[in-house]
This record gives sequence, C-alpha cells and structure tokens, in this order.
Amino acid sequence: MHLIPYPSPNFNERPKETVIETIVLHYTDMETADLSLKRLCDPKAEVSTHYLVDIDGTIYQLVADEKRAWHAGVSQWKGRDNVNHFSIGIELQNEGYEYFLKHNVWDPYPLPLMESLVQLLKVLTTKYNIDPSNIVGHDDIAPDRKRDPGPHFDWQWLAEKGFGKELEK
Ligand SMILES: [Zn+2]
Repeated sequence: MHLIPYPSPNFNERPKETVIETIVLHYTDMETADLSLKRLCDPKAEVSTHYLVDIDGTIYQLVADEKRAWHAGVSQWKGRDNVNHFSIGIELQNEGYEYFLKHNVWDPYPLPLMESLVQLLKVLTTKYNIDPSNIVGHDDIAPDRKRDPGPHFDWQWLAEKGFGKELEK
C-alpha cells in the first residue's frame, strides 16, 4: 500500500501501555484534500488525523500510528472516554454537511476512496489486531456534536468487505 507522508505537528503521546483498539472514520468537511491537509497541519487549528484518504484513493499519513492524533475530541466508546487515546483516525475527503447545504444531497464517497479505505483497514486491523467490527464513525463516539461520516457513507458496503460496526448487528 502506497502512503504519502504529509507530517502534521498536531499530536502528542498516547498514555503509556495504550493498546490501539478502535478506528474512527471522519469526513473532512472541506472542499478539497489540499485545504483539508493544510488545516490538519495548522498548529492553530489543533486538529489532526493519522490518515487522510482523497477522492482518487490517494492515502496521506499525517501522524504516526503510535502517536496520539487529535481527531475525536470529547468522545466516548464502549464506556471509555477520550477515544483519541486508543484509536486511529481516518479522515475521508468529503465536503460533508457544507455540500448538503449547497446541493441538498450529501456528497458521495467515490469507489477509489472506498477501495483505498478497505486496503488501509486491512493493513491496520492486521498490524494492531483490531477487531474488524470496532471501526466506527465520529457520530458514534460523539453523537451530540458530530454527524460524520454522514448518511452517504455506506456502512453496509464496508461490512460486505469485512469491516465496520455493522458486523456486530
Ligand atoms: Zn470527525
């Protein structure tokens, strides 16, 4: 799998002995990957992610897996707070709600993006022995604040590839 390094200064250390157990999917909520990458690397924005997948399937790595990226914010999953401690964040390039406001439909997730996501999930779940059903949306861990990856993200399609929270149902 080809990863393009795009280092962000926005990270810190995970708590000692943390096991990576969860993967959180987001949409960038911005018009282009270029704009998204700039924001995710801006120290003033204080946000980041481990990976960003562009609409053409290009995967950028911004923060090393072992470091703590800042994507989840105030969050909770399976009774544990601060999901950034024990998760890997993947941003999917998608205009999100802004697109919905402009076009009255949600921004679609193109196949090359989805296929690259599956490749990335294969690598990460194998490397860190993450339960393939323990892949969730930002809206699952911060339901009062967040709606990403949004209603156009096809969890069912992802489940057919062997990943995601739909497997638990
Ligand atoms: Zn998010």
